[in-house]
Amino acid sequence: MLYLEHLPCPVLVTSCSGRVLHINRDFKQLVTPESSDNMDYYLPPASRIFLHTYAWPLLLRNHEFNELYMQLQSADGQQIPVMTNARLIEAEGERVVIWLFFVAKERQRFEAELLKARKHAQENAIELTKVNIELQKANAKLSQYAQEAKTKADKFAQLSLTDPLTNLGNRRALTRDVKQWMNTANSESVASLLLIDVDFFKQINDCFGHAEGDEVLRHLAKQLLKSAGKHDTVIRHGGEEFALWLPNLDQEEAKRTAQRVHDHMVQILVGNKPITVSIGIASMAQNRQDTGIFLDLLLAEADAAVYEAKARGRNCTICFSDMD
Ligand code: GH3
Ligand code: MG
Ligand code: MG
Repeated sequence: MLYLEHLPCPVLVTSCSGRVLHINRDFKQLVTPESSDNMDYYLPPASRIFLHTYAWPLLLRNHEFNELYMQLQSADGQQIPVMTNARLIEAEGERVVIWLFFVAKERQRFEAELLKARKHAQENAIELTKVNIELQKANAKLSQYAQEAKTKADKFAQLSLTDPLTNLGNRRALTRDVKQWMNTANSESVASLLLIDVDFFKQINDCFGHAEGDEVLRHLAKQLLKSAGKHDTVIRHGGEEFALWLPNLDQEEAKRTAQRVHDHMVQILVGNKPITVSIGIASMAQNRQDTGIFLDLLLAEADAAVYEAKARGRNCTICFSDMD
């Protein structure tokens, strides 16, 4: 077995039962100069178990194996990681096993680094999950704030269009609806406006008090809503003056609406006396002018008609176009 001395790696030759037959110089240098006739002597406990439970049975079945990871044990108790190749051969009429060992210090280092990297990745994943949860929480809060802000904005927008006493729309709501109509109507479309002023309202305040006057205004608003069609807008124009915006209704249709208003008003009794109103009607075609100018003109004509109705004894309707 002289040639084994010249192989450039640690070599062990054993019988099929693990009895040591030969150890080369490299093996002695690597593991220990001391020798034993049992190869278990050169292995730490874990590798010994691995040898008997796995490596030997594998070897006896296949007559060889390559690159099994094991550990050798030096005389001072140090464990040396090695890749092991083994082959069972017939030499001089005897079955022997040749064991070649390749020191695998690098592999141990790689494994340690891999373990470290894996631990690092796990820690990062945990951190990431935590950050993700925080982000989701922040996101949910943000959505909630956005929703609250929108609800508030919607509420303010609604308030800015509403008369607080009667809950009807106000002048801004009227402007919005007129503008909407002007944007969609064609140049032949006609719309009408009813301006409604309560007759002798001051007397109601004077006789029954301001609070009762307010109650009458609220009642009046309800009756006006009953008089209006589903596309019409009822607004409180100010004080005891109301307006009905009738998109796509001409003067004749507006007159019929005005009659409904008169009929509904007399149902309100204050001190046994029915309420009456004076109504001015203005009707106008969509003439592509600015909404503000269109509405101002419509209101001015309706106002002039109301004035005329008052002059003619109140509790009646006058159309601006019928005036001299
Ligand atoms: P006319 O038939 O000429 O319209 O007589 P009038 O008394 O209705 O007219 P006038 O303009 O002289 O009086 C309107 C009154 O409406 C005066 C004001 O005190 C009252 N008024 C205006 N706004 C309110 C309100 O919000 N609540 C109450 N209770 N009264 C109001
Ligand atoms: Mg008035
Ligand atoms: Mg009045």
